[in-house]
Amino acid sequence: MKEGVRGKMNSICIFLGANPGTNKIYAKATKEMGMEIATRGITCVYGGSNTGLMKLLADSVLESGGKVIGVTVNALKDKEIYHPDLTELHVVSTMHERKALMAELSDGFVALPGGIGTFEEFFEVFTWGKLGFHSKPCGLLNINNYYAPLEALLDNAQEEGFLDSSDRNLAIRANTPADMLDLMIKKGNMKKGQKKFTPPG
Ligand code: AMP
Repeated sequence: MKEGVRGKMNSICIFLGANPGTNKIYAKATKEMGMEIATRGITCVYGGSNTGLMKLLADSVLESGGKVIGVTVNALKDKEIYHPDLTELHVVSTMHERKALMAELSDGFVALPGGIGTFEEFFEVFTWGKLGFHSKPCGLLNINNYYAPLEALLDNAQEEGFLDSSDRNLAIRANTPADMLDLMIKKGNMKKGQKKFTPPG
């Protein structure tokens, strides 16, 4: 791996669907993301599941020679839906601990297409960034224009005076995994140094 390819982005947390989605384009982009993460020498942090896009991402990173850290909770581990071949698997007690650990282990966060779990995880970490609890880059990967309705919701929030454009623009947008990672690395390199991040609450 070439020096400087990942800059300060040593690890990246990916939020994405525990389901595969109906259009094959989501699986294709997820595999591409896994390969791009691995070839840049970035460690992938994710929810640890062995289902849907989550599984495809972990498999793709591992098959491309990269490292994957899963962070799951006891209750899910008992159902044996955690991925069995991860580089590391952390099992914590609560969903809140899980998200806090994912945030602490990662230098940036990207949401791929997913459902309510993905939305919730992305918006929490995005909100922490907006409030200044961290300065790690957050990104929305707009595969197949999946996040267009979310942008429409944000348009409305802005028009109605509930969202500043500067806050909204804190999140990086890209249409391909490679573009997203390039932008994340660039933004990560602009930081003066990240204080150790302990999510509040
Ligand atoms: P969803 O978008 O609703 O499919 O939920 C996916 C997100 O929620 C992922 O980013 C995970 O972190 C978390 N999640 C959902 N299902 C699982 C699971 N079975 N195991 C671990 N994490 C999960």
